[in-house]
Amino acid sequence: MPPKKKKKRRRNAALLQTGRVLLTLASICVVVGICAGISSFMPAPADRLEATATAVPTPNGPTPVPTPTPVPTITPTPAEFVPFGTVLSETASPFADISPFTDVAASYAETESTPLPEASPAVTVLRKGMKGEEVVRLQNALISLGFLSGEADGDFGNMTHSALVAFQAVNHLTADGIAGEKTLSLIYSGNALTVNDAPDTDFLILANRTHPLDVSYVPPNLVDLSSVLPSDLVKIKYKGTMADRTATQAMKEMLSAAVSQGIGKWQISSAYRNYKDQQKLVDNSVATYQRNHPDWSKKKCLSATYNTVAPAGTSEHQTGLAFDMTVPGVSFTGTDQQKWLHAHCHEYGFIVRYTEEKQSITGFIAESWHVRYVGKDAAAIIVKNKWCLEEYLDALH
Ligand SMILES: [Zn+2]
Repeated sequence: MPPKKKKKRRRNAALLQTGRVLLTLASICVVVGICAGISSFMPAPADRLEATATAVPTPNGPTPVPTPTPVPTITPTPAEFVPFGTVLSETASPFADISPFTDVAASYAETESTPLPEASPAVTVLRKGMKGEEVVRLQNALISLGFLSGEADGDFGNMTHSALVAFQAVNHLTADGIAGEKTLSLIYSGNALTVNDAPDTDFLILANRTHPLDVSYVPPNLVDLSSVLPSDLVKIKYKGTMADRTATQAMKEMLSAAVSQGIGKWQISSAYRNYKDQQKLVDNSVATYQRNHPDWSKKKCLSATYNTVAPAGTSEHQTGLAFDMTVPGVSFTGTDQQKWLHAHCHEYGFIVRYTEEKQSITGFIAESWHVRYVGKDAAAIIVKNKWCLEEYLDALH
């Protein structure tokens, strides 16, 4: 072989080796990143239970009075909101025939005849916390499809995350706010459904213990609360919290009225929660019972949990139409805000969903802080007849 060619070969081999090393490093980073995701994901912040769970019961005592205690401030890390299982389903798919965490570099080396890619592996996944040109491209696509307003800034924050969840829900993708291969290829394809293609929200959708929602149910018209509700009107406890667009507009109308009547200092502790979030609340509560009562069986811990925490699929929060209203640092029951809410919320289309009188029908103990949007007409009839939602729906049919 001529020395020139030999030299070229050596150079190619060196390039190949460098590429392998880079890709191996990249795949290690993916693994480490995901593991970090798991560890920060596992201990879900206890205070996310706040309103639902404030009331983890004393097992033998009377129905506990929920006392939303002052809650430690938690700055959610991006990983906190990453549904781990879903990440894998999208990121792993391109490597269907090989384990995603084995020798990816080697498989490139065998198939690539051109020089190895310089930086990223073939699959790009975009998620909260990332920045750069690819994020700008994604944001521009979300803007042109009507899911995101404003201008692309290249910063994948809460707004972009919420817009992406809404895009995925309308387009029948896993609505996890992570842009994997399927999401990216659809959003740039020119065939994606726009925000105007979203089906109308069913404001009378029922979620209770006998009518659980499917694991895949995601409301069709979610928005980021902070895109509708100004911070001087209400504090959104967890950035990135979403709810149905119409219900959120009604919330704005209601709280504006309250504030103009001198009732302020509102906080929304929770709104839309997906099925997996709810399952996490259940799991955390079971773990707490197991810690506090080592002699209890898992079944007993679960049944104690279900006294106050809705089983996944049965929480109204999955509808995107329910809000937990609180006052920072204060137990909500008995406050002026609570009294105002109960007296006026129906005027804006909300009902107090769980009351003491209707416990046997709703299947949940009274929750003074939990309101549900049903629309003004339905709310007026429900209040006039002193019904709960189940009774109203029975009367309709
Ligand atoms: Zn609630």
